[in-house]
Formats: sequence, C-alpha cells, structure tokens
Amino acid sequence: MREIGLYIHIPFCKQKCAYCDFVSFEGRNTERDEYIAALVGELESWHNPLKDYQVQTVFFGGGTPSLLSIPQLDFILEGIHRYFKLKASPEITIEANPGTLDKEKLTYYRQSGINRLSIGLQAWQDELLRTLGRIHTRKEFLENYYAARDAGFENISVDLMFGLPNQCFQDWKETLQQVLYLKPDHISTYSLKVEEGTPFDRLYEQGKLILPDEELERAMYHYTITVLAQHDYRHYEISNFALNGKESIHNKIYWKNEEYIGIGVGSHSSFNKVRFSNTADINKYRELIESQKNPMVEQEKISIEEEMSETMFLGLRMMAGIDLDRFQRRYQVDAREKYEKQITDFIKQGLLTMAGDKLRLTQRGIDVSNRVFASFLPE
Ligand code: SF4
Repeated sequence: MREIGLYIHIPFCKQKCAYCDFVSFEGRNTERDEYIAALVGELESWHNPLKDYQVQTVFFGGGTPSLLSIPQLDFILEGIHRYFKLKASPEITIEANPGTLDKEKLTYYRQSGINRLSIGLQAWQDELLRTLGRIHTRKEFLENYYAARDAGFENISVDLMFGLPNQCFQDWKETLQQVLYLKPDHISTYSLKVEEGTPFDRLYEQGKLILPDEELERAMYHYTITVLAQHDYRHYEISNFALNGKESIHNKIYWKNEEYIGIGVGSHSSFNKVRFSNTADINKYRELIESQKNPMVEQEKISIEEEMSETMFLGLRMMAGIDLDRFQRRYQVDAREKYEKQITDFIKQGLLTMAGDKLRLTQRGIDVSNRVFASFLPE
C-alpha cells in the first residue's frame, strides 16, 4: 500500500509575530468551530482518492495548533481516523507555542496518539522574544517544556531562530546552551528572513531593523553545527538536528519529494504528479467547502523533468545526500549522466562531494546551497 503524509493547517494565532508571513490570523476565536467543521469536510473529500493509501505521518502546523481546545482537536482527529487508514504507530506531530499548553491538553495529546511536540521557543532572551512579537517568555517555555515531559512526551522538538535584530553572538550561544541543558530530542534552527509585507519588512525598508551582518549570521550557523554535534545531535538537514532515531519523519517526506496532502486554508499538496494549493482566504475556504466545492486555487502538473530536478535539490537539503542508485531505480535515469555538468563543476569547487552512490553538499556547499540547488532546475 502506498504511503502519504498528511498536513493539517490551523491558521489561528494569539497575535501575529513581526516576521511572519504564514497563513495565520490573529484572534478569530468565534470562527474556529466553523473552520474546523470545514477542515473535516475537506478530510472527507479525500476519503476516496486516498483509499489505497496509508497515512504514515500527521502534522498539525500553523498558526498555533495548540490554541485549539480539546474538543476541537478531538473532532479533527476523529475525522482523520474515520476517513483514512493510518499506519501502525504513525508519527503525529503538533506545533505549539509556549503559554498555550497545560497539563490537561498535554495529557489529551498523549492519550489521542499525538507523539511528537514541536515547540516554538525561537530565542532564550525575553527582550528578543518581545522584538519578534512572540506571545511568551522563556519562563513559559520552560514550564510548558517540563509539563510536556511530565505528560510523557518522548519526542520534543524546539524551534529556534538566529540572525535576529539586535541579536549578538553571545545571545545565540546562550540560547543553544540553555536549550541543550534540556536535551530536547530534536532542534530546528532557522535564519531569519525578512519576508515581504511583514512589520519587519516595513522596518527594514525604513532602515530601522538592525540585522547581524552575513559574517556574523554564518558564524552563528557554523557554531550551531559544531556545538550540536558535540552534544550528539545529528545534523540531518540544513536547518535540522536530531538525537538518534528522532529525525522528523514528516519533514523527510518533503525532502524525499514524496506525496503529501495539505488540508486547510493556504495548504499545499503534492499528489499523483500534481502540485496544488488551497485558497489562502479563510472565508472563501469555508464557503467553498460548505458548498462542496474544491478549495484548490492553483494546480500544476509535475513533469518528470521537474520531478527529477526537485528530487535532486530537495534531497541535497539532507546531509546524508541523495542516493543516486535509488534515484535510478525511481526514474530509470542515471543522475550522474543527466546532471554530469553540475555535479562535476560543484565537486571541483568543493561544494558537492560523492561517496559511493551518495551525492551530498559539503560544509562549504551548505553556505551557498541556493546556488547549488538552482543549478538543478529545469532549463
Ligand atoms: S506563532 Fe507562528 S504562525 Fe503565528 S504569527 Fe507567530 S510565527 Fe506566525
């Protein structure tokens, strides 16, 4: 039976962070039940197309999924179990923001099969958290983290950000060291990008957002790799580190360019050689589902050429690299021949390396990964 990943988008947040361009909305407490009813309606519409599939991972992302009440989340989980076949012991992740968790919710999560918690801390310093527009303090993070361990969570990921306005190297060092004391199972570290249309973008345009220069930002990243390796975290993807056996199975579906379905407003899917996305307008999303119409706004057939190129550059995001023999079995094409020029040039430049049938980025290659990835795009 074919396997698939399921992403469920919960677009509600207490307040919008200053850097965020995700499809998420502040407040809207009274609209949540209607949205969830629409979500379950969309799940139902996938019952038939996915009848020959087994769901291997479920990922509640956002937004802030941990804002949902227990009955709201229960309604969605019940829909998932009603309409899909789940693999034995699937990975089920929920994203949470500190300050939105309590003992009751965490106990419910565990009892309902949610076995992975991804907590967005971002920075250790309360002053930086305020700059980012986060709703929480580090104290709330710690309380929620310990409560999650007490509730029996054995797979906790912590999200962190570097390259932040007014963040110095010492701040980042302290963030990593404090988080390492807690020994989370997984750590994601993202470099801040100023996204168009966000409050940070406006400040940046006005020259009021003081960001670390590239040299400092790279030093933060290189320090991350070194210090996390010293603490037994495997650097398995450009921005992700995990203790043994705790890599994110759901995210690896994306990097291996395998099939996934996104449910909810603004979500993306890749299924049956077609890539598509839902409307990002929450009212329109609800109306479309209520009138039993498709919420999809864009779809694109993925040609074999595009699929191979995506498999190359997504696969190179993983530090283990691409298994070229597997690539050949999947497409009946030898990637060494097809991408000979790129592979040879980048190996010469020290940005890619080949060991056996594995092609991967070097440490230098990681710093210019976008240039390497772009070279695999179809002409
Ligand atoms: S909590 Fe996450 S989704 Fe919500 S505004 Fe902040 S960054 Fe965006």
